[in-house]
Amino acid sequence: MKIVNVNAYLLKVPYPDGQRFSAAWEVASTKEFTFTLVEVETDEGITGYSGMISKGFEVISFIESAVKEFLSRIPLDLFFIEMMTRPLRTGSYFGPRVGLIDIALWDIVGKALKQPIYKLMGAAKPMVKAYMSTGQIKRAQQHIKDFEEGKAKYGFKAVKLRFHRSRWEDDIKVLKEFRDIFPDVEIMVDANQAWTYFPPYWDGKTALKVAKELEKYDVLWLEEPLPITNLKGYAELRRSTSVMIAGGELEYGIFRIRELLENECFDIIQPDPNLSGGLTEMKKIAALAEAFHVQFIPHGWEPGVGLAAALQLIGTMPDYLCPYLEFPLDPPLTPEIRDAILEKPIEPRGGYVRIPDKPGLGVEINIDAVKKYTVKEIRRP
Ligand SMILES: [Mg+2]
Repeated sequence: MKIVNVNAYLLKVPYPDGQRFSAAWEVASTKEFTFTLVEVETDEGITGYSGMISKGFEVISFIESAVKEFLSRIPLDLFFIEMMTRPLRTGSYFGPRVGLIDIALWDIVGKALKQPIYKLMGAAKPMVKAYMSTGQIKRAQQHIKDFEEGKAKYGFKAVKLRFHRSRWEDDIKVLKEFRDIFPDVEIMVDANQAWTYFPPYWDGKTALKVAKELEKYDVLWLEEPLPITNLKGYAELRRSTSVMIAGGELEYGIFRIRELLENECFDIIQPDPNLSGGLTEMKKIAALAEAFHVQFIPHGWEPGVGLAAALQLIGTMPDYLCPYLEFPLDPPLTPEIRDAILEKPIEPRGGYVRIPDKPGLGVEINIDAVKKYTVKEIRRP
């Protein structure tokens, strides 16, 4: 089986009723959910997909200028996925992250063999506990209402709140109000300080003060409390608090993750399959995490096809290594919007998500929806 074409599309799915999404980590709010979809076509009529949140243009232009050409010159059958490791790593150093290609190839292999990827890689579990990952800074009462709804509809027992108010003391007030209403819910906190665009910018002392407060409210983990350049600060913070320290969602590849683990920065590493080299690289990162006795819970803020990749990976990891799925849900960002190009949205039931069990990534793409939401398309002339 050979690759005959690689296409990339930029899609924008508008939020309903003109609503806007104000991500805690972004400067501006957006009126659409934007992502890139990659499509790899083969000479046997099997098509593989992958996708990630991005503005898309850089990914699309890199695929157009380099990846298509490279893939067309590989003499091997595309089952030789590991042969792609070095070229994709190299491509990702001087261009955008191209792990998306690896994921699309795994999708093809799964479809060719009629098995979901997690079973081909070595399955560990058929489902995973999901936590509701919020993305916006809201008033406490709104967070409480949104979680009540998520709990009623999907059975969530865990939630992640964002800390990015001007004063961290105000973040704590929201956490306190939330904890008072939900004494038994598992709560995680994400400070998004690792690659922060705009203030507040936390230092080590601030992060430690926050961590000490989080201990009082039995918070499970504190995510990205410091700039990702401050490895010593992460290690010191981790030693000084009983709250687990998590991070690494934008990191790339095993060599950088090894550096973070050797420096004892994290209790949980969270690379993203779509950003960090694809499923082949992620399996190696998972092995590294296990060797360091660190948990590995992949980043989940991706379109449905990207979340499906994270799910296939999680399906290969026992709960001691990966106990959760990050499930983004913060209206107006809902599964219907995130998964608008899937035949069926990925949704938790009773707080758990089943690893999609159809061949490949386990999800089916609705081509009409792809056409409807595509704003830019690149095809080989
Ligand atoms: Mg995060």
